[in-house]
Amino acid sequence: MKKDEELCKIKDEVINCKKCSLYKTRTFPVIGEGNHNAKIMFIGEGPGLSEDRTGRPFCGAAGKVLDELLNKIEIQREDVYISNLVKCRPPANRDPEKEEIKACSSYLNKQIQIIDPKVICPLGRYSMHFLMEKFGLKNQIQPISKIHGKVFKVKNLFKEIIIIPLYHPAVATYNPNMKEILKKDFKILKDKFLGKI
Ligand code: URA
Ligand code: SF4
Repeated sequence: MKKDEELCKIKDEVINCKKCSLYKTRTFPVIGEGNHNAKIMFIGEGPGLSEDRTGRPFCGAAGKVLDELLNKIEIQREDVYISNLVKCRPPANRDPEKEEIKACSSYLNKQIQIIDPKVICPLGRYSMHFLMEKFGLKNQIQPISKIHGKVFKVKNLFKEIIIIPLYHPAVATYNPNMKEILKKDFKILKDKFLGKI
């Protein structure tokens, strides 16, 4: 099966998914979007209000910050793939629960397997935890304030994959100093990897 078909299959599965209770309160699930051959994948936490209403990832205030950060390092949204840990909005934007993350993880795992990116940037601590555990980095987990912008290289089957935990862009919507930190971390992505992967 081609990548497009495989990703389309995930879309169908998510639309019909009832594996956790979040399907009951969502408007649209947010499956993920971007380049199916992306070298870089960004993984957010879960849909917010704007995303729930449109079905598109990072299309609200946090998305505006993400767009600005991408623009600054001359990456187009169309070049990367953007997904989330949970595909349905937690009510009132509460944090996703352990069981919800677990129930939803098969979709994200498949997306990563199909897209096969060289670099994955978890956005925020929930995605950081999930991805670091997934890629055998559990004993190197630290608070996001300590490991944002750090580069972790892991072996995934026979290839190397790079994990760079980043702050969630939403933090910059209520704390402007955080935007500067995010810009610095995005510059690491640009200087180390753009044009080289
Ligand atoms: N926050 C997220 O974590 N994901 C989105 O898609 C939007 C906001
Ligand atoms: Fe299914 Fe994930 Fe939505 Fe829960 S959040 S209903 S597991 S798609």
